[in-house]
Amino acid sequence: MKKKCLECGTEIMGRVDKKYCSDYCRNAYNNKVNKDSKNLVRNINNRLRKNYRVLDSFPLREGKTRTTRTRLLDKGFDFDFITNLYTTKKGTTYYFVYDLGYLPLDNDQYMIVKRE
Ligand SMILES: [Zn+2]
Repeated sequence: MKKKCLECGTEIMGRVDKKYCSDYCRNAYNNKVNKDSKNLVRNINNRLRKNYRVLDSFPLREGKTRTTRTRLLDKGFDFDFITNLYTTKKGTTYYFVYDLGYLPLDNDQYMIVKRE
């Protein structure tokens, strides 16, 4: 079976376990893979930063405030991106983006809290 270079598609001669026709192609291919994973991390970090800014835009009174799902969405909050969960002894789960979190309440209401 003939193998082709993963980078340029040239047919590869020689060892069966070779994946690239040259060092140049191996480096080019690996650089692309690394770049993609760096982009992934950067995009997720941007989403988290945006979410943090949204939570941070609500003035807190004694470390908390209330808002609605609509207001969070209007400000661009993305519920898919959080950094951690915190579950109290009573079994209530807060969703955190760094030190700012939210707790879903009834009727699309949300409590926003800041961790001490
Ligand atoms: Zn090649």
